[in-house]
Amino acid sequence: MSTSSLPMIAIVGRPNVGKSSLFNVIMRRRISIVHEEAGVTRDTLASRCNWGGRDFLLVDTGGLGVLIKEKNVPRFDALIRDQVLAVSKEASVLIMVVDVRAGITPQDVEVANFLRTTGCPVVLAVNKADNEKFEDEAETMFRPLGFKAVVPVSCIQKTGIEPLLEATLVRLPAVL
Ligand code: GDP
Ligand code: MG
Repeated sequence: MSTSSLPMIAIVGRPNVGKSSLFNVIMRRRISIVHEEAGVTRDTLASRCNWGGRDFLLVDTGGLGVLIKEKNVPRFDALIRDQVLAVSKEASVLIMVVDVRAGITPQDVEVANFLRTTGCPVVLAVNKADNEKFEDEAETMFRPLGFKAVVPVSCIQKTGIEPLLEATLVRLPAVL
């Protein structure tokens, strides 16, 4: 199967929530650059991946080239919106990443509202749930964002990845 015919799963979300970390954990390799601070320009990264017998293209939207000084972008501005829109048109499923330590931020709300307008299925990955307390709180905390699939994960502990991928893969179109 050529790469272009593979279903695409795109990782989206505001800066610094752990999108690149999640990309690396799913790829089981360190490919994407993890930044200690938000705001560095990165390149879009797409890589072929197989999980549970399904082949797909995994995309890390963290560095779409235009998110320069993203730390200083106080809102989900038009530039970011255009990039996420472009990706959502091609993706079969979007994994929106949020940070359990930060709770729901205004930027999360804007991203979520925007994703809903794309009609693309969304799975919410509540990252940085490094301990049981955060894992327990994750679903209740992020339920107000309005997504049905809410999965606590920790890219550092490498926990929750299996349930996250399961929730994502069931939303992929069936293979004919
Ligand atoms: P991105 O901007 O969304 O791509 O986020 P990065 O993957 O670059 O990660 C941003 C920061 O969050 C880095 O300092 C990571 O080490 C940290 N981070 C990522 N995943 C986790 C996690 O599961 N737990 C904790 N505590 N920190 C994490
Ligand atoms: Mg990134």
